[in-house]
Amino acid sequence: MTATMTAMVAGGAGEALRAEARPLPQPRGAEVLLRIEACGVCRTDLHLLDGELPQARYPVVPGHQAVGRVIAAGPQAVLAERARVGAAWLAWTCGECEFCVSGRENLCDNAEFHGCHRDGGFATHMLADSRWCIPIDAAAGAVETTPLLCAGLIGYRSLRLAGEARRIGIYGFGSAAHLVTQVAVAEGREIYAFTTPGDTAAQRFARETGATWASGSDEPAPQPLDAAVIFAPVGALVPKALRDVKKGAAVVCGGIHMSDIPGFPYADLWGERQLRSVANLTREDARAFFAVVGRTPVRARVRVYPLGLANEALADLRHGAFNGTAVLDCSGT
Ligand SMILES: [Zn+2]
Ligand SMILES: [Zn+2]
Repeated sequence: MTATMTAMVAGGAGEALRAEARPLPQPRGAEVLLRIEACGVCRTDLHLLDGELPQARYPVVPGHQAVGRVIAAGPQAVLAERARVGAAWLAWTCGECEFCVSGRENLCDNAEFHGCHRDGGFATHMLADSRWCIPIDAAAGAVETTPLLCAGLIGYRSLRLAGEARRIGIYGFGSAAHLVTQVAVAEGREIYAFTTPGDTAAQRFARETGATWASGSDEPAPQPLDAAVIFAPVGALVPKALRDVKKGAAVVCGGIHMSDIPGFPYADLWGERQLRSVANLTREDARAFFAVVGRTPVRARVRVYPLGLANEALADLRHGAFNGTAVLDCSGT
């Protein structure tokens, strides 16, 4: 009898995921086979389903926040069986392009991503290149750890790019925002949260998480901000954030996809305000972030769905039916 695995497969843009039984793959080279415990759901998974990631290779298994254990290792793998690891968005980089050789593998010209180019974690098992796996503490809860692997990491990279800012505006208060707020508050910063106008539940969630102030994005900031991080995929928030920040401040766009940015007066950018995006992450980001998490407890608010209900989890994320992060429990059959 051949051992099998279950995967939720995206067949193409606009299609719902379908459950598929597959033979268990054999790890080759530096690959390991992971038995997945849980995998977080990210807005990028919605972009994949909606055909908004031009680099995606369908059919593909979504999921880039997977926690699991190594159950088989290829001959060149740098991990042994039983190792507990995370498989995040960055699946592989070439190590040779100008970005890789200058410590910016997040910008690699040839990078491959889990749940985009390579099958990801909406499954009971997945292959991952052991050199890009992120070590996970054996005692850490799988479900609570998964959101750290993308939302937490991207949030952390966004926060670092915001510089030494004390008062930071966060636009869109979901998975990344609630994690990065905890890190920022522990560092002595103040968070000003902007949500969809009228979304009082998200505003309450922001305050509970540690935000100093929370209101709708139709409100001006209560005082000039030192930096802004935009997580919502809404281009109109870019000129809004530029108006909320002081001279010299950075506006950092943390999402992989955003609607078009409307025109705005040059005066809103003037004064050495900076506008930049965050793309992907590096293994160094992961090392730095998990070191921070080891010192500063970062608690993810999660809603757990069984793997087979991945479509429901994605629909709930799309419709803002919960605060925090949806996580698939992949530990069943
Ligand atoms: Zn993600
Ligand atoms: Zn490269």
